[in-house]
Amino acid sequence: MWVPRFAELAASACVVRVPMRVPMRGVTEREAVLLRGPAGWGEFAPFVEYGDAEAARWLAAAVEAAWSGPPAPVRATVPVNATVPAVAAAEVPAVLARFPGCTTAKVKVGGPLAEDLDRVAAVRAALGPAGRIRVDANAAWTVEQAVTALTALAGADLEYAEQPCATVAELAAVRRRLGGRVAIAADESVRKAADPARVALAGAADLVVLKVAPMGGVRAALRIAEGCGLPVVVSSALETSVGIATGVALAAALPELPYACGLGTAGLLAADVTATPLVPEAGALPVRAVEPDEDLLAGLAAPAERRAWWTERLRRCAELLPVTA
Ligand SMILES: [Mg+2]
Repeated sequence: MWVPRFAELAASACVVRVPMRVPMRGVTEREAVLLRGPAGWGEFAPFVEYGDAEAARWLAAAVEAAWSGPPAPVRATVPVNATVPAVAAAEVPAVLARFPGCTTAKVKVGGPLAEDLDRVAAVRAALGPAGRIRVDANAAWTVEQAVTALTALAGADLEYAEQPCATVAELAAVRRRLGGRVAIAADESVRKAADPARVALAGAADLVVLKVAPMGGVRAALRIAEGCGLPVVVSSALETSVGIATGVALAAALPELPYACGLGTAGLLAADVTATPLVPEAGALPVRAVEPDEDLLAGLAAPAERRAWWTERLRRCAELLPVTA
């Protein structure tokens, strides 16, 4: 991979601070560095608590997007899922209304089981029998809790359950005990595993969730997908439309895409860097480049001390990347 010198990276960088529509991960504003290269734009937005080694992979992904561009797509649109947070069942129709045309919903679970069951039942009622429902516990359960909850939730006809427990061994145990009644997806386990193919080898998952930035770029993620040998769901990492476009590029380049992707997330931010954001139309995102607007970048510019913080982080992470020029 070709990496520009730090001076070139820094000269191309715009640091933005975008308000969140609802706080997530304890943040109310999302900060990102947008990099402009000869092939387009990339987004460098590792969460602030991440160390440099982890953040450097996000930089590799941003550099690939801006200096190399995406690999050739094999499809023109990418279906995406609606996302239902841990809301009361009565609020489900209003949440789903924000995702017009989406026939797949990802539902947050892992709280009190009665509430999870009510929420999932409300989603099933809203989507009808043809809708697809996946649940995401974000590793909240023990093996016993996961088997109990997913056995109960299986009545709603789940597409799969994402990361029910924390470890690869626990995922494998849950998957074995459910005996195929609910498919298991590995999300956090793939990002944390030194060798993501281990998830497949351990019999821990039926599919994997991949995000481009933590994997170090679209081409790296494609190699990981191939190494896993499992179906892939591409997901975003709370990015602006520039970062989402990189996820769309991965989804567009995968040989097979049997599931809707978790890329319909631009609306989680209260603003975007482009006047034509990548938001779902008829349940899908178009495969296209995203060009930020100069006036929006200026309006969202981070304060000077945050720009300095990100520039220093950019310098440290750039030193960790392979440099060939
Ligand atoms: Mg997840």
